Amino acid sequence: MTDQDCVFCKIARGQVPARRIYEDDVCVAFLDIGPLAEGHTLVIPRQHFRDIRDIPPDVLAAVMTPTSMIASALMRTTDATGINVLQNTGLTAGQAVFHYHVHLIPRVEGDGLGFIWNAGKYEDDRADELQAQLVEALAAAKA
Ligand code: AMP
Ligand code: ZN
Repeated sequence: MTDQDCVFCKIARGQVPARRIYEDDVCVAFLDIGPLAEGHTLVIPRQHFRDIRDIPPDVLAAVMTPTSMIASALMRTTDATGINVLQNTGLTAGQAVFHYHVHLIPRVEGDGLGFIWNAGKYEDDRADELQAQLVEALAAAKA
């Protein structure tokens, strides 16, 4: 499964240059061209999947295994004392390239990066309602 116009498919096939730092049969990892921090890395499956919803579990596992190893290598190699592991799904969430990819963003104290994390709280019975709906949706998805 490839998408002729997809830049990450082209990187996977070696048709677009990238600073590759790791590859195996299933995935390729390379430095992000517009890094949010030194060492900002993207890990992609070689096959074209749009996002977290359509990547098969075995491919997901095969991408996440080296992702853990790469995170450790980034922390050994840069000054990072933390890493954000991020996957934007959908335009609203900031996805710009619609080929599944995991961001590894090295973090240092005071780097000014991060989410605006305005923790809210559920009103009345909304948490109960939502929990029941999600349990039902997940049970249906598993059936
Ligand atoms: P997202 O917004 O989660 O879809 O992230 C897409 C990321 O891909 C951005 O951080 C871009 O800087 C990065 N990117 C786009 N094109 C390339 C490329 N040719 N090589 C490396 N990184 C790229
Ligand atoms: Zn692709």
